[in-house]
Amino acid sequence: MVTSTTAAARLVSIHGGHSGAFCRHAQDDLAAFVAAYVRQGFSWVGLTEHMPPASDRFLFPDERVAGLTVADLHRSFHRYMETARHLQAAYRGRLELLVGFETEWTTGSADLVRQLRSRYRPDYIVGSVHHVDDLNFDYDAETYQAAARAAGSLNELYCRYFDQQYAMITMLRPEVVGHFDLIRIYDPDYRARLQVPEIWTRLRRNLETVRALDLILDFNVRALAKGAVEPYVSAPILRLAVDLGIALVPGDDSHAAAGAGLHLEAGIEVLARAGASLDWRRPGPRRPA
Ligand SMILES: [Zn+2]
Ligand SMILES: [Zn+2]
Repeated sequence: MVTSTTAAARLVSIHGGHSGAFCRHAQDDLAAFVAAYVRQGFSWVGLTEHMPPASDRFLFPDERVAGLTVADLHRSFHRYMETARHLQAAYRGRLELLVGFETEWTTGSADLVRQLRSRYRPDYIVGSVHHVDDLNFDYDAETYQAAARAAGSLNELYCRYFDQQYAMITMLRPEVVGHFDLIRIYDPDYRARLQVPEIWTRLRRNLETVRALDLILDFNVRALAKGAVEPYVSAPILRLAVDLGIALVPGDDSHAAAGAGLHLEAGIEVLARAGASLDWRRPGPRRPA
């Protein structure tokens, strides 16, 4: 339901446009995403394609099947940055586009992020963690179970996720932290688990660090498209983030043009009910690390 409060909120996506042209697990050309955002009257959108992996061992299964190498993915990323900058210029006056990318956090990725930032000068980056101890956990449910087994237990997987996210936040200082509690993706008991003291203490520390560094949280509604009942972050984390005064900004994390703006209004409604500011903060230029 769209209330008068949420109807007044501008449409933005701080985490958008994973396109089929540059990403194996997405669809459609980037231009089709941008056209969809324009049609829906978005105020601004951040394009945030995935960075290339730091080495061949971090290729995703679909990339392996397609016979892709890290070098291929670097070339693809280069084309993404060119295309995104081209669209940014072409749409000036109609839609404000920001050009960024989404990180990985694995062995070797900190150095690679530094190189990509200095080579491409993105408008901002989304700092995301999709691996724990170099094992991906969000590709599918089997991957998730394997990561939990390797960590020893689901509780331990969460603890290690939030510790590695803390390292990512402090080392990269990304302007935006992506899907903060993604680690709950295939866990039906996540609500109880987030309250486990060792886990809650860690995520609280991370949120306090997000606040201290004045970073933005991606309020990621793609969870809804994948069948979850609430976006990342989940309700108790959202309450704490609002109490701490952290800026939250909706992100659709779209992986197809039809996903541009999908479930965004539902997400804005959740933010409004939680008392979060709907005066979205735009990610600014990078603070010196
Ligand atoms: Zn993706
Ligand atoms: Zn992500």
